[in-house]
Amino acid sequence: MSPPAAWLDSHCHVHEDADPVALLERAGAAGVSMVVCVGTNEDTSRAALDLVGRDNIGDRAGWSDEAGSSGQAESTESSGCVVPELFATVGLHPHEASRGTEGMARLLEGLSGAPGGFHAARLVGIGECGLDYHYEHSPRDAQRDAFISQIAMAREHDLTLVIHTRDAWDDTFAILGKERLPERVIFHCFTGGLEEAKRCIDLGAWLSFSGIVTFKNAGALAEAASWCPADRLLVETDSPWLAPVPYRGQRNEPAYVVAVGERVAGLRDVAPEDLAEVCRGVTCRAFGLLDPGS
Ligand SMILES: [Zn+2]
Repeated sequence: MSPPAAWLDSHCHVHEDADPVALLERAGAAGVSMVVCVGTNEDTSRAALDLVGRDNIGDRAGWSDEAGSSGQAESTESSGCVVPELFATVGLHPHEASRGTEGMARLLEGLSGAPGGFHAARLVGIGECGLDYHYEHSPRDAQRDAFISQIAMAREHDLTLVIHTRDAWDDTFAILGKERLPERVIFHCFTGGLEEAKRCIDLGAWLSFSGIVTFKNAGALAEAASWCPADRLLVETDSPWLAPVPYRGQRNEPAYVVAVGERVAGLRDVAPEDLAEVCRGVTCRAFGLLDPGS
C-alpha cells in the first residue's frame, strides 16, 4: 500500500490561534508535512516568526543548519507527535495598508542583521500584501503604496512575494507590470478564472488554490485549477477562514488542506498522492526552498 498523500499548506494563520500546537499536531497526524504561517501586520508577523522559531512543539521536520546556504530542508523521523515543518512570512495586508510599512522594514532589518539571518528565522516570504477593493478597509492609494513597497522588499531581500488580490485585478496587473518583480511571486487564494490564471502564469507566478475550489459554485476557478501548469500549482487553507467542503461552516485548520488537494486532484483527474508529491517540490521552489525529496 502506498503511503498517504503528504500535502503542504502554503498559506495559513495558525499563529493567530489560541492553541496553534494542537492544530499543528492535527495537521501532522493528517500527513501535512509543511505549513507556511503568513503575517498580515507587524504583530501577526512577529507571532508567525515566534511560532516557527519554537522548538518545543513536537518532533518536527528540521531545518538543517549543516545544509547552510543551500537551504536544504530535511525531514527527520522520530517518535512522538510529528508536526509539520514550519516557515513564516512577514507582511502588511491591504486591509491594514494605512498603517504603513515602516514597522515591517524595521522588522526585516533586525532579522537580516541577526545571526543566521532569514535562514535562521525560517523567513521565506513577504506578504500577504496586495489590493483588496472588495472591503476597502484602507484607502486604495494607501493599498497601492504598501503593495509597491513590499514588492521592493521582497526583491531586495530575495524573498517570495505573497499576493492577496480581491476585486482588483486591473490595478494588480498594472502594478506588477510596472514594478521590477522578485524572483518568486505567489498569488495566494487565487480566485480568478482562466484569463487571470494565464496572466499570472505569464508573469512567472505560482497560483495557490484554497478551499473555495471545493465549493459548488467554483465554476471558473475550478477551470483555472484544472488548467494550471503542474509546476505552478500550490494548495493552501488560508485557515482559520474558508474551510473546504466537507468542513464548510467550521473553523478551518491546516489539516484540511488534504480536502483542498484532493479536490484539485479530482479536477485534474490525477491521483491525490501523485499531485501531493508534485506539489511538495513546487511549493518548496516557490518559497526558495529545495524539495526535501529531491
Ligand atoms: Zn491569508
